[in-house]
Amino acid sequence: MNFDAIVIGGGAAGLFCAITAGKRGKKVLVIEHNQEVGRKIVISGGGRCNFTNLNVTAENFISQNPHFCKSALAGFTPQDFIELVRRHKIAYYEKTLGQLFCRESSRQIVEMLLTECSKAKVRIMTGCTVTSVSQDGCFEVETSQGTFTSAKLIVACGGLSFPKIGATAFGYDIARQFGLKIVETRPSLVALVMEGKAYTPLAGISMEVIASTKEQAFRENIVFTHRGMSGPAVLQISNYWRAGNPVSFHLAPETDVVKHLTASRGSRKNLGNLLAEILPQRFATAFAEREFENKPLFQMNDGEFEHLAEKLTDWQVKFSTTEGYDRAEVTLGGISTNELSSKTMESKKMPGLYFIGEVVDVTGWLGGYNFQWAWSSGFAAGNAI
Ligand SMILES: Cc1cc2nc3c(=O)[nH]c(=O)nc-3n(C[C@H](O)[C@H](O)[C@H](O)COP(=O)(O)OP(=O)(O)OC[C@H]3O[C@@H](n4cnc5c(N)ncnc54)[C@H](O)[C@@H]3O)c2cc1C
Repeated sequence: MNFDAIVIGGGAAGLFCAITAGKRGKKVLVIEHNQEVGRKIVISGGGRCNFTNLNVTAENFISQNPHFCKSALAGFTPQDFIELVRRHKIAYYEKTLGQLFCRESSRQIVEMLLTECSKAKVRIMTGCTVTSVSQDGCFEVETSQGTFTSAKLIVACGGLSFPKIGATAFGYDIARQFGLKIVETRPSLVALVMEGKAYTPLAGISMEVIASTKEQAFRENIVFTHRGMSGPAVLQISNYWRAGNPVSFHLAPETDVVKHLTASRGSRKNLGNLLAEILPQRFATAFAEREFENKPLFQMNDGEFEHLAEKLTDWQVKFSTTEGYDRAEVTLGGISTNELSSKTMESKKMPGLYFIGEVVDVTGWLGGYNFQWAWSSGFAAGNAI
């Protein structure tokens, strides 16, 4: 069967691209190997889908070319997506930091996309796996349910994270087949595993910190896990973390640490109790014991106080690895943006071939940015094909 465009992958980007092209009168087929489309949307945002962010800028994305995402983000903005959500009467709210979530269920977003697909006469095949692609005048797509041809092929296969709900490396395979460069991929928006086991007994403890690397800083919560740390601050900084480089934590961003410590100089209380005034009790005790001797304050000299102040504001933590693709919300890296037009997402080497969404080397922060990239890049390609 012949189509104007075939979209491989019925996730956020693929569906949105198909809707956009279908509304322009294009005959579009979406091929999805799961039994249902949008499985990642369903599980996203704890079942409420953080579908966009009010404060989207190019600075919220990581890519070898930080300017690449600008055109697509300007062409289809968070306001444009919110407008669609409103038209479908989906109740939503701002949780924090501009993050918009469905009030009821992320399934409403999938239903909205399916309704729009149906209006745009998009054909969707689920439970259908694309096994190979070739190009000879048009694209020929071999699938588990037969062969389909089209003038344009849109690769919206997503990244490698969450293989249990359908992630595959197929998008990267197609890129390689057509000679496109791939920026090395790694799991991100993911919990980090600490070197050593000193803090593992603290699993479950949560506290507000500033987590930073040389490039970025995030003031949010961390949560200790059985293997290291999670929580929004750590997920955010995982986008910038590189193996071998420590992450710095300001442990008491609300407190003037030097003033607080100076006020207690010479006191009989021990260090753990002093720290418990500004940090969770169990963490304060563990930190005092593991990083210092947990001794009475009057026994601490000037040098030790200085060292303590430094540790509280710049605790350098080494992580050995991440919790991997099984737990990562996104994949960093992907199809090199040098290979694609930023206006249309079309391959410069292979006309008619497009890459959109997470498979591209554009990765957003935690907070609705990755879905916005999926909508915006899908819209850009959908308008071009
Ligand atoms: C647990 C979790 C929570 C998240 N929460 C949020 C959030 O709240 N907000 C946010 O902005 N981002 C969130 N994300 C990230 C977001 O889900 C992704 O960035 C986004 O879904 C990417 O869209 P995509 O269409 O590019 O890829 P995907 O949504 O991954 O879609 C790709 C599709 O291609 C299909 N596919 C793969 N290979 C083949 C093949 N060979 N043949 C046919 N089909 C194939 C897959 O089954 C999949 O359905 C979350 C991610 C996870 C894992």
